[in-house]
Amino acid sequence: MNKYTCVVIGGGYAGIHTIKSIQKNIGRKISIRIILIDPNPYHVKKVLLFKPAVGKEDIKIPWKRIFPSGVEVVQGVVTSINKEEKTIIILNNRKEESKLKYDKAVIAIGSSFQQVNSAHGGISLSSPENAEHIYKQWNENLKLASKATCLEEKKKLMTATVIGAGISGIETSAALAEQMKTVAKSMDLDPTDIQVFLINSSNNLFTKGPGKLGKKLESRLVKMGVKVLHHTRVERVNDGIIDLNTGRRILSGLSVWTIGLVPNPKVSNWDISLTTDGRVFVDDSYRVVGTEGIYSIGDCARIVDPRTGIEDRMTCKEATIQARRLGKIMRADIHHKRAPIHKTPLTTYCFGLGEKQGLVWVNLPNLNIYLSGKLGYWIRKITWDIASLVK
Ligand SMILES: Cc1cc2nc3c(=O)[nH]c(=O)nc-3n(C[C@H](O)[C@H](O)[C@H](O)COP(=O)(O)OP(=O)(O)OC[C@H]3O[C@@H](n4cnc5c(N)ncnc54)[C@H](O)[C@@H]3O)c2cc1C
Repeated sequence: MNKYTCVVIGGGYAGIHTIKSIQKNIGRKISIRIILIDPNPYHVKKVLLFKPAVGKEDIKIPWKRIFPSGVEVVQGVVTSINKEEKTIIILNNRKEESKLKYDKAVIAIGSSFQQVNSAHGGISLSSPENAEHIYKQWNENLKLASKATCLEEKKKLMTATVIGAGISGIETSAALAEQMKTVAKSMDLDPTDIQVFLINSSNNLFTKGPGKLGKKLESRLVKMGVKVLHHTRVERVNDGIIDLNTGRRILSGLSVWTIGLVPNPKVSNWDISLTTDGRVFVDDSYRVVGTEGIYSIGDCARIVDPRTGIEDRMTCKEATIQARRLGKIMRADIHHKRAPIHKTPLTTYCFGLGEKQGLVWVNLPNLNIYLSGKLGYWIRKITWDIASLVK
């Protein structure tokens, strides 16, 4: 029996589903050693980053819970890959370097947050730590508001602004409006004095979808008390003063940036073919072009349906579907058989809109389906759990 060493770099959604897929498709027939490399001792439920920003929710899952057995975890960052030697160079938390040999390697190092100009103030919703910081800040603001005597200062302390209206901004503003009102009430503040602004640079919400979807999202947000400002950009945030390109000024005790993702820039040092926007170049079966035995999926890779030329987006759903296919591709490659090729999945998006409400949009040919309310939230919750392999 051959023994293969398969190294998965990155334990986000793409990485953990790749491991499951390898175990299912290859592990039963071939003796395989699976190694996961990640800087953290846990998987981060990245799509739920807004949760610790509005309440005490832990979004980190220790590796042992996801992979009780059969997977070795190396905690560290990959700094380069030697394609000739088939080795991966890892730097651990103590800054010690080590080498790991692979037969198959999967690059799944995901994405990073778009950098906010350092001259801007505010906090970026970019890590569980930042999310906890956001939670502390608005809670502290409300405590101060309950004692404030100056009306203008009180209004500012009871105001939060979310800058960037993608899924993350939409979900964060909804959850903030809901939770800030609940906490305000418990502090004998008037919940109707809570103001949450969502700053959107386009003319509708979620322009990747039909106009009706944007309208539905906005209508729910407005019901929750979120004020959506379209066609608006933030020029600067300074000491709770937000200057907008429209000339308007908002006094806001909390400013949260949610302005989107870019492919992980670390891969640019790995001597791997990249697209001009920094994504790993792969063929129709996720093999990294110009390498032997290396694959790449998820947010860090450029993945295109060869039949339509449509590129996958940087979403959790796309990453997990690619991962499920990747196990079959690797099995076919090991047995020198024809491998499956990439196919664009059905377009669906799920939005959590507060504690128990959600909206799911399914885009079928010539038909858009919307599921809202508790059903929408329930589907959203199930997809969150499946994505992080939590039963
Ligand atoms: C706030 C927010 C909300 C979102 N909401 C949604 C949503 O509702 N629906 C949706 O479909 N998508 C959503 N997304 C997008 C989704 O999170 C990403 O598409 C998804 O995380 C991609 O998975 P991935 O495994 O490719 O990358 P990631 O989840 O980014 O995982 C990358 C992993 O690689 C590790 N890593 C990084 N560098 C190295 C290195 N050098 N060596 C080793 N390991 C490394 C990281 O620690 C991490 O574990 C959201 C994103 C954010 C930020």
